[in-house]
Amino acid sequence: MNNEFSCQEMTEVVTDYLDDALEPDESQRFERHLTYCAGCSTYLDQMRATISHTGMVPREESLPPALRERIVAQFRIFRRG
Ligand SMILES: [Zn+2]
Repeated sequence: MNNEFSCQEMTEVVTDYLDDALEPDESQRFERHLTYCAGCSTYLDQMRATISHTGMVPREESLPPALRERIVAQFRIFRRG
């Protein structure tokens, strides 16, 4: 019954979400997670900003290291609460 995305899963599907490639129910779970998780909301904003810079959806492994570090740091801050 508990089929919420975890933060880890969010980072895995975020590019699909931005590609509009998620199933409707997955997309709903994604958006539900965003409503209570500031870390993932920020992550999504960063991804959107990256896309507007590069004009494409970045694969996780192709993120610039500096950006990835910033995102990871933000996750740590939000986890600490
Ligand atoms: Zn999250």
